[in-house]
Amino acid sequence: MSTFQAPKGTYDLIPPDSAKFLAVREAISAPLRDSGYGYIETPGFENVELFARGVGESTDIVTKEMYTLTTKGGDQLALRPEGTASVLRAALEANLHKAGNLPVKLWYSGSYYRYERPQKGRYRHFSQVGAEAIGTEDPVLDAELIILADQAYRSLGLRQFRILLNSLGDKECRPVYREALQTFLRDLDLDEETRRRIEINPLRVLDDKRADVQKQLTDAPRLRDYLCDACKAYHEEVRALLTAAGVVYEDDEKLVRGLDYYTRTTFEFVHDGLGSQSAVGGGGRYDGLSEMIGGPALPSVGWALGVDRTVLALEAEGVELDLPVTTSVYAVPLGDEARRALFAVVTGLRRAGVAADFAFGGRGLKGAMKSANRSGARYTLVAGERDLAEGVVQLKDMESGEQTAVALADVVAELTTRLG
Ligand code: ATP
Ligand code: MG
Repeated sequence: MSTFQAPKGTYDLIPPDSAKFLAVREAISAPLRDSGYGYIETPGFENVELFARGVGESTDIVTKEMYTLTTKGGDQLALRPEGTASVLRAALEANLHKAGNLPVKLWYSGSYYRYERPQKGRYRHFSQVGAEAIGTEDPVLDAELIILADQAYRSLGLRQFRILLNSLGDKECRPVYREALQTFLRDLDLDEETRRRIEINPLRVLDDKRADVQKQLTDAPRLRDYLCDACKAYHEEVRALLTAAGVVYEDDEKLVRGLDYYTRTTFEFVHDGLGSQSAVGGGGRYDGLSEMIGGPALPSVGWALGVDRTVLALEAEGVELDLPVTTSVYAVPLGDEARRALFAVVTGLRRAGVAADFAFGGRGLKGAMKSANRSGARYTLVAGERDLAEGVVQLKDMESGEQTAVALADVVAELTTRLG
């Protein structure tokens, strides 16, 4: 151990487990790439004001969880706590929405930072894969994104996840509901902080996890009863499209995002094997966000799925991923001359596209064969002085145990053929 440890609330991804993270990122992004989403990468930090406006001044993310810093030049920056605001900022900056090509469909993958109380499934550094479809109001787009996330989880072998779905209304009907809710909430017995929340972000109060708060909310006005006809029709269309695609979801009218620019469709993916950190991903429409950060009206929808929690969900369900074996051939040289000869073979194999590794450091046969076994390689190549004198190497099929002498000059071709 060194003098240092990973900072509180963080952990390192190390082999072999790190392969699972790569596989999860790949599985989540593959359906997006196949559906017209282009890859976008933005900086790990942004102007703090982007998040204050783009995530919301009254959210926990902005008030409590952001890592902020002042640069030597005096800029106020924040490590990104989420992806949507940055992606929209970048799309606007590059004028992607003006190419006459709406919606702009983008996907991303990366590290996010939140100063949270660390616990299982809740870290200060975590990773997400996300997708945004910018600039089009079309229920098919909302359905597409939910279907693609469902497809991604299923392709990983996950089964015990549920999709929660709700509509938050729009700028016509939400304000009416908001006021009705505020009137109701102001009469309840609530602490100071929650009272403040009633004024800034009343829908969030519905999301309060405390039992004594929930008890008082039984008779709260329901958003469902306030949805305007356009929102109702839109939501019914999304539901019908999901049903037609065979995607099972649950209507959850408690599912809220309190900010004004979150509109209509909202959803969350929860996994029942994860205890209290059960949300593996979430998203929805954010028709008002572009204007909040100084852009034109661009109705958009997106989601972000947590990679860390998805890996935990796989473990909770006992899913073993079918991870690709990374090494196909493992070379074990016995002696200096063999070392040079076999390293040349390994280089040749690699150039031919065969994954090959090597017993470094002049190790004995026994230890080197152990490493060969651990590597999962299908074939080993062993050569000593006598083999080289005969111009051959010993090729061993680790599955059948069969061993054959192959001419040194032919071994790359032989292995490329055998491995297809
Ligand atoms: P929660 O309610 O659990 O705090 P959230 O609403 O803050 O989640 P989002 O901002 O919607 O989460 O982020 C999308 C996904 O990113 C979450 O569903 C989760 O899988 C993951 N995520 C969010 N915060 C963390 C974290 N601190 N550690 C690990 N994963 C996280
Ligand atoms: Mg959170």
